[in-house]
Amino acid sequence: MSHVFPRHCHADLPTAVAGAGCYLIDRDGRRYFDGSGGAAVSCLGHGDPAITEAIKDQLDKLAFAHTGFFTSEPAEALADLLIAHAPLGIDRVYFTSGGSEATEAAIKLARQYFVERGQPQRRHLIARRQSYHGNTLGALAAGGNEWRRAQFGPLLIEVSHIAPCYEYRERREGESPEAYGLRAAQELEDEILRLGPDTVMAFIAEPVVGATAGAVPAVAGYFRRIREICDRHGVLLILDEVMCGMGRTGHLFACEHDGISPDILCIAKGLGAGYQPIGAMLCSGQIYDTIAGGSGFFQHGHTYIGHPVATAAGLAVVGAILERELIPRVQRLGAQLDAALHGRFAQHPHVGDIRGRGLFRGIELVADRETRAPLDPALKTAAKLKAAAFEAGLICYPMAGTIDGRRGDHILLAPPFVMDDSQISEITDRLATAMEAVLGPQA
Ligand code: PLP
Repeated sequence: MSHVFPRHCHADLPTAVAGAGCYLIDRDGRRYFDGSGGAAVSCLGHGDPAITEAIKDQLDKLAFAHTGFFTSEPAEALADLLIAHAPLGIDRVYFTSGGSEATEAAIKLARQYFVERGQPQRRHLIARRQSYHGNTLGALAAGGNEWRRAQFGPLLIEVSHIAPCYEYRERREGESPEAYGLRAAQELEDEILRLGPDTVMAFIAEPVVGATAGAVPAVAGYFRRIREICDRHGVLLILDEVMCGMGRTGHLFACEHDGISPDILCIAKGLGAGYQPIGAMLCSGQIYDTIAGGSGFFQHGHTYIGHPVATAAGLAVVGAILERELIPRVQRLGAQLDAALHGRFAQHPHVGDIRGRGLFRGIELVADRETRAPLDPALKTAAKLKAAAFEAGLICYPMAGTIDGRRGDHILLAPPFVMDDSQISEITDRLATAMEAVLGPQA
């Protein structure tokens, strides 16, 4: 028995010993197709020699230099590369070691920005009920899962939660997607007005909701209206692209699809592709200039921000995504995966919705397709599917996620961008085996 403290204390997990392309291999030699890139992390697959070389080179040159004294070459180069491709107005990069650190930094930056602008009354954060922003206390407070927050309630900052943009469940019969998007966005304005516009500092949302909901994009026009509402009331827009960013949806930044720029943008997972722990919070020049021209010091920080080896990995990963033209590949393979999932599962009696963008796809499971009633949480369908898929040699990310903040079951797929066309059927075949084992035969 090892002394590792696993997330599930009684889980008897296999020991991963190797990774090759889209596969992970355990100590007994079993191979698993990494159909979710872990949790939408491994966008380049495993064992990519260009990335491991870049890491080794950096280790040989410089492993660590504290950011209180130095910046480093890979951190500077990665920041420049990200800004060269970032949405309009985004001008600075603050590195972190992961996603929760990025969203936590975003919340604190929003607050400090208003304090430095002489508006200390702006303290309210608004988020959506269907969202996950991380597990540190600020990020957890922002997240929409009631069940994740429940036992930590007394420790959390106050955050307002509004409805997500969730077409499958919330669009009314006869309502156009556009009209629904405007109605959903209006909830933000209503909440800002309820709280008092000059007391609200920021709104945070995932452009495509990942872990809690199974790749739910907003309808066209929703985020443009959200941007307008934020601008009208001087509220900062924070987009959390920790899961959906870095090419996953078929754009380097997911918000490109919605045609908007946020004030603060969080990325992680695909930035290091699993080769190193790294995330980043990007912000507008206006926010940076306010702090630079004010106190001159962002009252935040962690020992490992801008770590040379982590940023060298990030630089090699983003370089690979761009130079190997993986984004058009994600668009092409994503369309094929979507078609294959529809072909295989659209008629399944427990499949309510198949959705997503690029290589970020979700399947929502229901008890009844007509009524869209969720499965009974006591059945623990998501957990059983995860186990059955694993048994069938497929890593996917089924979650007891959220339907309006509560539990519901979905499967999230986020395979490596480097997979090839023939591997799509490997995903659908193995998933079909798991679905049959847990939910019974299709017909
Ligand atoms: N934000 C989103 C959208 C995420 O999906 C996650 C992780 O799943 C996080 C933040 C937290 O990132 P991390 O687990 O790297 O702290």
